[in-house]
Amino acid sequence: MDSPIEYLKGVGPQRGELLRKELEIATFEDLLHHYPYRYADRSSITGIAAVNGNSDYVQLIGTLINISEEGTGHKRRLTATLYDNTGRIDLVWFQGVQWLKKSLVENGRYIVYGKPAVFNGMVNIPHPDIDPLNAETNIAGMQPVYPTTEKLRAKGITNRSFAKLTQALFEKITTADIPEFLPPYLLQQYGLCNRATAIFRIHYPDSEESMQAAKYRLKWEELFASQLKIAQIRLQHTIQPGYKFEKVGEHFNNFYSHHLPFQLTGAQKRVLREIRVDTASGKQMNRLLQGDVGSGKTIVAIMSMLLALDNGFQACLMAPTEILAQQHYQSVHGLLDKMGIPCAILTGTTKGKERKDILQQLADGSLKIVVGTHALIEDKVVFHNLGMAVIDEQHRFGVGQRARLWKKNDKAPHMLVMTATPIPRTLAMTLYGDLDVSVIDELPPGRQEIKTVWRNEMRRASVMDFIRSEIDKGRQAYIVYPLIEESEKVDYESLKAGYEQVRVFFPDHKYNVAIVHGKQDMQERERNMERFVAGHAHILVATTVIEVGVNVPNASVMLIESSERFGLSQLHQLRGRVGRGSEQSYCILLTGNQLSEESKQRMKIITSSTNGFVISEQDLAMRGPGDLYGTRQSGIMKFKLADIVQDSAILEQTRLAAQQVVTDDPGLTHQLHQGIRYILLKEVNQSDWSKIS
Ligand code: ADP
Ligand code: MG
Repeated sequence: MDSPIEYLKGVGPQRGELLRKELEIATFEDLLHHYPYRYADRSSITGIAAVNGNSDYVQLIGTLINISEEGTGHKRRLTATLYDNTGRIDLVWFQGVQWLKKSLVENGRYIVYGKPAVFNGMVNIPHPDIDPLNAETNIAGMQPVYPTTEKLRAKGITNRSFAKLTQALFEKITTADIPEFLPPYLLQQYGLCNRATAIFRIHYPDSEESMQAAKYRLKWEELFASQLKIAQIRLQHTIQPGYKFEKVGEHFNNFYSHHLPFQLTGAQKRVLREIRVDTASGKQMNRLLQGDVGSGKTIVAIMSMLLALDNGFQACLMAPTEILAQQHYQSVHGLLDKMGIPCAILTGTTKGKERKDILQQLADGSLKIVVGTHALIEDKVVFHNLGMAVIDEQHRFGVGQRARLWKKNDKAPHMLVMTATPIPRTLAMTLYGDLDVSVIDELPPGRQEIKTVWRNEMRRASVMDFIRSEIDKGRQAYIVYPLIEESEKVDYESLKAGYEQVRVFFPDHKYNVAIVHGKQDMQERERNMERFVAGHAHILVATTVIEVGVNVPNASVMLIESSERFGLSQLHQLRGRVGRGSEQSYCILLTGNQLSEESKQRMKIITSSTNGFVISEQDLAMRGPGDLYGTRQSGIMKFKLADIVQDSAILEQTRLAAQQVVTDDPGLTHQLHQGIRYILLKEVNQSDWSKIS
C-alpha cells in the first residue's frame, strides 16, 4: 500500500510526478482513496441517428475518420468524425490534443461516451471519453468517472484513465491489503459493510445498492474519525483540572446591583448561570457563546471577567480587530471605571512607555482586566494569574490561537468563546465539538425588527432620498461596499467612486460623510470611525471592516452596495449593525439588474428572515461548509465523501458511537479498538487538531 505510485502499471515517473503534484496521489493507497465523483451508465448503446442536442450522456460505437488537428494556441483542438450504420457525428477535444492525436487510429473502431452539445447549429460531442473497441471492452453497468485536472488531462490521464489505473491496482492487491479498522460490533450495530468491500465497490459498483452501501460505509468512517478526535479532546477537558472559582463576590454583586445599565434578559441570566456552574466545577471551562448580532454578549463577557476578579484572578478579552477592541475597551472601561477596577487596552499600536507599563502591571498583577487584539497572545505578554479569557468573534481566530491562551497560566484559564455567526448544529458539532455551547436566543426588549428591502440600481435616487429623510430625522447611515481580496486596488477604486457619488447626493455644506477602509493607516481609520461613533458624521462609507461588532445605536440605515457579492451570513452580520437602538431601522440591499438564480435566492432569504440561525442554515445548505467560518484554513473538515449537511444523520450516529467508544475505553487499549486507534493516529498527524490537544 505504501508503494510509490510510479510502480503501478501505466504510471511511470512522469505521470507519477504529476499525480503527486496535482492530486496528492503518492502511493497505491492514495489511489485507492481517489474516489469516483459519479458513475456513467454504460449499459446501453445509442444509434448515432438518435442523438440530438438535447440528449443526455450517450454511448456510441462506431468507426473513427477525419482525425485532424485544427487551430493554434488557445484555439487548438482535435476533431474527428464517428459513424455507424445509422449516421455520423463530430467529436472534438480541446485538451490532451497531442496525446490523443498519437493514440487515435484512422478507421479504428471505438466506443465513445459523452454529452452532446450544439455548436454552430450542428450537434457534436465535446470531450467524449473514447476507448478502442476490443475484446476487453466492458459494455456494462456503472462505470466510475473520476475527478482529474487540466494538467493531467493534457498528459492523457482523463476521468476514465483512472479506471484503468485502479483496475491495475486491484489486480496487484488482495483484500488482506485493505484491513478493517472498525470493530465487528460497530459494523453490526450500524449495518456497515466491511472496508475492503466498500473500497472495491465504490470503484466498481455492481448495482446502485452496492454503491450506496460502499459510500455509506466510507462516509461513516470519515465522520467517525473526526468525531473521535473531538470526543478525545472533550475527554481531556474533563480530566484537565481548572481553576475553581469558589464564590460570587463583591465585584460581581456590586456591578449587578448598582452598575448594570439595564435589566438582563432571561437568556443572558441563563448563560451567566451556566458559566458560573462551569467555573465552580474545578475543571477548565471551554464554552462557546452563540448569540445573534445585538443579543448582548458583551455584558456577559464583562460579568464573566468580574467573576474571575472576585476569585483573585485576572481576565482578558480578545477581539479580532483594532476597532472592535477599542469599542470593547470603551464599554468595559466605561462600566468598570466607576467601580475603581483598573483596565487597559493592548493592541499592535500600543507602543513605548504605555506598552511597557501595561506589560509590567499584567505581570505583577496590579492590572486586572485587559482588552486587546491578538497582541494579547504574544509570548511577551505574561500574566500574573490569568483565570478567564474571553474571545470575541471566534471565527476570525484560528484554533491554534485559542490554544496559545491556554498556556498563559499554570493551569489553562477558563475560556469563553463568543460568536455572532450562529453556527448550525451540524457544523458546530464538527467545528466546535470540543466546546460546550450556550445560546442567547432572546434579544433585549424594545427592539424593532429591521425592515429589509431589495432594490436594484435603477432605484438609487429614491434610495438616497430615503436615507436623506432618515438623516434629517437625526439618524445615521452606513453605506457598505464589497471587498474582494484578490484585487484590493479595484476595490479601493470602486469605494472611492462610490464615495464621490455619495458626496453628490449628500453635499459637503450640509452633510458630514466619513470613510473607512483597509488602505488607511490605523489612526486615520480610527479618526473617521470616531467621527461616526460620536455622531459627528451622518454617513459612514466603508468596506466590510465594520462587519463585526461595531455598536452605534443611533444608526438606522444600512445600505449594502452590490449586495449580490456578499454571502448570506455576511449580509446578516452587516444588517446587525443597525436596529441597535429603539428606532425603526432599515437594511437596503442594492444589486445590479442581472442576477444569477443563486443571488436572487440569497436576496429572498435575507429579506424574509432576520433570524441568524435560519440564515446560517440556509447559507450552509447553499454554499457548503468549505468557505464558511474559516474552516478551509482550519483543515478540520477535509472529508473526501462526507458532506456534513447532507450526511447529518451519519454525523449524529458517529458522534454517539465515538463518545461511547471513548467513554468505554479512553486509552483505546482494548484489542477490538486497535484499528480505531490507528485511524486516530493517522488523522491527528494530518490535521491541526494536534495543536490544541
Ligand atoms: P452583541 O451580542 O452583538 O455583541 P452587544 O453586547 O454589543 O451585542 O449589545 C448590543 C446592544 O444591546 C448594546 O447597545 C447593549 O448595551 C444593549 N443591550 C445588551 N443587553 C441588553 C439588555 N438586557 N437590555 C437592554 N439593552 C441591552
Ligand atoms: Mg459583539
